Amino acid sequence: MVAVPKTLPITQPTIQRAAIVLHAEEQPLRGVARPGTHELYRNPRVSCDQRALGPLRPDFVRVKMKYVGLCGTDLHAAKADPNTGYVRTSSPASIPAKGRILGHEGIGQIAQAGRNVPHLREGAWVIFDSIIACRQCDRCKRGFLNQCRHARLLGLEEDGLFAASVDLPAGIVHDVSTYIESDADARALALLEPAAVAFVACRKAKVKRGERLTIFGAGPIGTYCAMLARNVFGAGKIAVVEPVEFRRRFAARWAEHVFTPAEFALSRCDSFDVAFEASGVLNNVDSVLPRMNAAGRIVVLGRSGEPLHLSATDDLITNAISIMGSRGHHGGAYEMLLQLYAEKKFSPADAVTSVIQGLEKLAELMRSPDDVIQHDNKILVQI
Ligand SMILES: [Zn+2]
Ligand SMILES: [Zn+2]
Repeated sequence: MVAVPKTLPITQPTIQRAAIVLHAEEQPLRGVARPGTHELYRNPRVSCDQRALGPLRPDFVRVKMKYVGLCGTDLHAAKADPNTGYVRTSSPASIPAKGRILGHEGIGQIAQAGRNVPHLREGAWVIFDSIIACRQCDRCKRGFLNQCRHARLLGLEEDGLFAASVDLPAGIVHDVSTYIESDADARALALLEPAAVAFVACRKAKVKRGERLTIFGAGPIGTYCAMLARNVFGAGKIAVVEPVEFRRRFAARWAEHVFTPAEFALSRCDSFDVAFEASGVLNNVDSVLPRMNAAGRIVVLGRSGEPLHLSATDDLITNAISIMGSRGHHGGAYEMLLQLYAEKKFSPADAVTSVIQGLEKLAELMRSPDDVIQHDNKILVQI
């Protein structure tokens, strides 16, 4: 006699969905004790694959993605150093043999909520934390969620948002339905994450009304720093330093002075209260030190794995200058920016230079990262 279970397990079919997957070979650089991502993964390749989604877990939600944003980190993860073949980002990443689904900026609608997630209804518009913090460790308990000891980065250490459908832990999901009245709202809030990274950096730098700023790198993060410093923190004159002509012209909307690095070196622009290094060229930190005002703050955001060498240490000491890092968006930045968006004081959509259609097109674009850097700022993808 065969025993029949009283209740049959609920089985959900595995579904297939298109996703942008980063593949790379794991080859730790010899002689490096703790290799960073840029010393660990070689020969990156991006493809648009069909990937399976199994049954939805009880604490997760299934989200149908609507718009995603392309971040410089995605491009640098997909780009190889021409000499060594290693990827260009030093951001933490874990790329398994089957590849990693990229993407950490975006908006979607709840397709299904797990049985332990009663508060998120089907159809709700949602955005996401890009740093999955444990909320249990000593750092999280002190409020430093961006620096969580067990942080996992969405789209780099966990599968991310560049997919038609994604399953995500409900704890990283923010319901923004009350802010969405039109497609334009969805496009704008898809990019709240990178704007919040810049907001946290401005807050860390304690940008004050009338202060003079310089920003190295007018990619999306540098541009959001300029926008927010100007429109929200009330900064005074802003100088942007950027090698790419398109990005210089674009950033000029939020800056008094726009320079190439060579022009900046020769300019007399100085007495900066705050400098943001958002280009990954860490030498900027040393070269700007003699041009900082007393009690100046230098915030390092750009990651390339480069060492930071300081020769202007006397300027650092004499003028009591602080050099600090900043990462992440936790700490109330989403709530602040949603409020500013509702009051029409700030829109993340202002950094968008192209909207492209579909994941295949995104994969194609990511295979020529230099084109993106030369001709675009923030790229939004409609899925
Ligand atoms: Zn990013
Ligand atoms: Zn933690």
